[in-house]
Amino acid sequence: MISKRLRASLDSSICIRDIFEEGKKLAAVYGPENIYNFSIGNPSVEPPAIVNEAMKEILDTEPALALHGYPANVGHPEVRQHIADYLNEKYGCTYTCDGIVMTSGAASALAMLSNTILDKEDEVITFAPYFWEYKSYVETFYGKLVPALCNMETLQPDPETFRAAFSERTRFVLINTPNNPTGAVYTPESLKMVASILEEKEKEYGHPIYLVSDEPYRKLAYGIEVPYLTDYYKNTIVVYSYSKALSIPGERIGYIAMEPEVEDFEDLIAGLTASMRYLGYVNAPSLQQKMLMKCVDASVDISIYEETRDILYQGLTEMGYTCIHPDGAFYLFVKALEEDDAHFCEMAKKEKILMAPGTAFYGPGWVRISYCVPAKVAKESLPGFQKLMEMYQK
Ligand code: PLP
Repeated sequence: MISKRLRASLDSSICIRDIFEEGKKLAAVYGPENIYNFSIGNPSVEPPAIVNEAMKEILDTEPALALHGYPANVGHPEVRQHIADYLNEKYGCTYTCDGIVMTSGAASALAMLSNTILDKEDEVITFAPYFWEYKSYVETFYGKLVPALCNMETLQPDPETFRAAFSERTRFVLINTPNNPTGAVYTPESLKMVASILEEKEKEYGHPIYLVSDEPYRKLAYGIEVPYLTDYYKNTIVVYSYSKALSIPGERIGYIAMEPEVEDFEDLIAGLTASMRYLGYVNAPSLQQKMLMKCVDASVDISIYEETRDILYQGLTEMGYTCIHPDGAFYLFVKALEEDDAHFCEMAKKEKILMAPGTAFYGPGWVRISYCVPAKVAKESLPGFQKLMEMYQK
């Protein structure tokens, strides 16, 4: 017996992990070298050496009882101060130790923010296509996720759909750049537009509307600066995660960063601290927090992802596929060769290619290729994509 609410959400979800598992089964039958599993965003580049070195040093030098004991719910103060100093220096911000809350990755941060900000039927706008778990992070807390479809020619936020998505129940806007599933990095012009509409709507409704910037892919940007959102909008709350930057998603570490200027700062911090306990996270892992004293700005070697992106983007566009050049993350959004993207993914399986249907991300008619695979796999998948194209040309 599970709750009706959860049952409904389980029945309606398109589970990308199922596609990934199917890929593993196919690999057992045909050999892993013959399966092109582009379904899931699991990092494929080794973590930088400094991550393990830092952890070993901490384990060897810090008193075990204190290291493994409960830290404050919001995290070790010296780590939070270190992150505040780093961000202030890098982005010219005004963070203090009090405005940094250590979290178990971005997922818990978003759940805690929903729990802190939303009352029943409050609304959260997000730019679509969007990471499918956003719906659960909002609806588990009885909120409503309202998608604002991007311009599908550019994959940038669209002012018309954005403006139309607001209501007096809008409490925050959830933005993700570099984006999962499209790989788009939102431009300064897009962000100025987003900020000016937000300011207009704050005035119209007379209450703060936060901009929550979910940034697990900030470090994965290829030859492009990812704008920092506090430069655009005062009521910005940044959510950062080391899952992809350091290839350590299993370790669960990230943070929420809020400048003291953010409206209702004290209440928000108190709400997040309580949410940390109420939702059962208690605190972010202590060893991983301490590791950040040495790795706050570290990242994996992103040239490896860039090489794979180039192979796929060039290969597919030369064949005649429509895809918008992705500047970040490790995703390529490709137009399906028929309207039914789920059926297109089924057809691709004939060539042992596994992709995620765009419908799962509120981007119907498209598919997501997650290119966190070795460059060799990407290269060897190209003849399969060619055959898939030929199937549709017949
Ligand atoms: N947000 C986006 C856009 C993601 O793609 C992911 C994971 O893939 C997350 C949040 C959750 O990441 P984390 O491992 O930091 O919880």
